[in-house]
Amino acid sequence: MSNLVWFRNDLRVYDNPALFQAMSKGPCIAVYFITDDQWDDHGLSQIKRQLIVEHLKLLEQSLAVLNVPLIVIDGRSFSHSTKLLLEMCNQHEISAVYFNHEYGVNEKRQTTNVELDLKVRNINSHGFNEQCIITPGSIKNGQGESYKVFSAFKRKWYSDFVEQARPLYTKPKAQSSSLTSAVSNLECLKDYDLSIPLQEHWLFNESQIHDYLTEFAYSQVDRYHLERDIPSLNSTSRLSTHLALGVITTRQCLQAILETKLNSNTYSLDLLHEGAQCWVNELIWRDFYRHILVAFPRISKGKAFKQETEKLPWKSNNQDFLNWCQGLTGIPIIDAAMRQLNQTGWMHNRLRMVTAMYLTKHLHIDWRLGEQYFYSKLADADLASNNGGWQWSASTGVDAVPYFRIFNPYRQAERFDPNGDFVRKYVKELNSIKGKAIHKPDKALAIELNYPMMTVDLKIEADKTKSYFKALKQ
Ligand code: FAD
Repeated sequence: MSNLVWFRNDLRVYDNPALFQAMSKGPCIAVYFITDDQWDDHGLSQIKRQLIVEHLKLLEQSLAVLNVPLIVIDGRSFSHSTKLLLEMCNQHEISAVYFNHEYGVNEKRQTTNVELDLKVRNINSHGFNEQCIITPGSIKNGQGESYKVFSAFKRKWYSDFVEQARPLYTKPKAQSSSLTSAVSNLECLKDYDLSIPLQEHWLFNESQIHDYLTEFAYSQVDRYHLERDIPSLNSTSRLSTHLALGVITTRQCLQAILETKLNSNTYSLDLLHEGAQCWVNELIWRDFYRHILVAFPRISKGKAFKQETEKLPWKSNNQDFLNWCQGLTGIPIIDAAMRQLNQTGWMHNRLRMVTAMYLTKHLHIDWRLGEQYFYSKLADADLASNNGGWQWSASTGVDAVPYFRIFNPYRQAERFDPNGDFVRKYVKELNSIKGKAIHKPDKALAIELNYPMMTVDLKIEADKTKSYFKALKQ
């Protein structure tokens, strides 16, 4: 009899409770199901699909060192892969299945179905929570309710963290090669060579990523609070893609900061320097949005967190939306950001907010369209954080930006890209314009440089948004 480790969004061997516990209990084999139909339904980016494939290859190598064979199966949909998982249990005489929990509605349904089906067959199942530093559903206010305000959530998160802090799971010890006769099989991955250009650090294996994280903690995090909003600087960690793939955990990120900045046995986050605290704050936002997803699953069904905002007169797909997608709005900072997304599969956080707010508050286009577009392009595409970011920007979400605080993209550009360096990198047709003048080329120059005309009156459109929101209260 063997244990089966069912890999999902957790493509790593370090700090992996499912793998660790399974291997501590007996011989193990591992499986991953490619679920193309599900990816299509969710509109998952091609770049993330390619990265999953690449990281499965790396995972297979790491598991081979532990003598755990990895079998990758074309599972198509969640329901079909559930059937295949059960067949696999039969074929390999599996006595227990180990996995880490997922929090999306469909994923949770699949987990429940698998658990029930296994139970009927007298096969044990063991699920672990590892996607958050503090388990979703466990942080409640005095009334036993989930927090809806980030600052209050964070205060409770801090105190719970001190109580619940635990060491990371280490890499399991290798099992004897004679324990299982199964062999790794990655045959089905050959159909997934999408030949998409990928950023070099996205392909790091686990130990390279740990080095990269340590380097960030040593040399960059101290300036994070000062530089994180400047898109032309490489001043944020750029670890979101690894986190979204589960190649590292937020717990590992936090531990790296604690080890570098404090004694590793100290869990007093208050002692951290401003830069490190600010970065940890972002990790807590990530936890927050996952907690919200679990407590209010409607947000993953295309529903607004603030239900009254469903009445807003959103526009749907039109030429404005297509221009926004393509980086052809005529507002250089918006266009540079969208081109960064389209060309690299990643966008700086400040610009995610600026572009999302422009789409929803100046073009009045439904945030769900923007959310889907980002999801279809981002390497770090992540349901909870993407939805959280979109609903924050559209003022439809939990603890969202107040509806009347509307970013003016020109002012954002002058503040966070003062010399236009970021715009110059992506809006090449404006390259010749020196200094901050690049942010607002005049009409004649725009025509001469073959750059699109901006046709939206920002003041009028922002006022419209305010009136739409005010009308909701009446
Ligand atoms: P750092 O600044 O180094 O932050 C460290 C980590 O903290 C990030 O890797 C990320 O996991 C987390 N984090 C940082 N900011 C946020 C935030 N605002 N919300 C939640 N977690 C955060 N993040 C995703 O991982 N996937 C998405 O699909 C996604 N979509 C977004 C859409 C919009 C409209 C907005 C406004 C934000 C979105 N974010 C998303 C959050 C954020 O923009 C990215 O996590 C961040 O830009 C990633 O860069 P980094 O790794 O250098 O982050």
